[in-house]
Amino acid sequence: MTSDWKDIKIQIMNILNSSSVDGTGFRDVLFVSGCPHRCEDCHNPETWDYDAGIQTTLGEVYDKLCQSSITNVTFSGGEPFEQSWALYHLALALKENTNKTIWIYSGYTYEQIVFDKEKRKLLELCDVLVDGKYEKDNTELNLRFKGSLNQRIIDIKASVKALKPVLFEMEF
Ligand code: SF4
Repeated sequence: MTSDWKDIKIQIMNILNSSSVDGTGFRDVLFVSGCPHRCEDCHNPETWDYDAGIQTTLGEVYDKLCQSSITNVTFSGGEPFEQSWALYHLALALKENTNKTIWIYSGYTYEQIVFDKEKRKLLELCDVLVDGKYEKDNTELNLRFKGSLNQRIIDIKASVKALKPVLFEMEF
């Protein structure tokens, strides 16, 4: 991988450090801009606009995500798979150069993602997918790492191997 990937542009809202609610353990969360899903009662409607936030480079994002060797990484939004090409290069750099795990949130389902060549390339570099739109009439209190009951927390490597979605087993 050449260093050219560091110049790739990405549109982001912000990076949240050391979150404990966006996946297991402590994670730095990259919130990207742009979402086509328009879920009713979405908690982050300000992220829907593809021009919201700031345009930056993968190099800057990568450096911020690597400031801590302890925290892992979560891609959220917005809809991360709308910027699959950029996030693929970021995920590749993280996997080649660090031992961070990557969770990724999406309004798309696992099945929709695996049948899209570009989205699938990004998916296969990540470890855990939380999939599906937020359904405000299909929720309950204290759901862990997801907003509604339809959403699944999926072990990506196990799913690719099994050719079907396999749920991620969490340690409590
Ligand atoms: S996918 Fe997420 S960010 Fe997009 S509208 Fe639904 S809840 Fe909001």
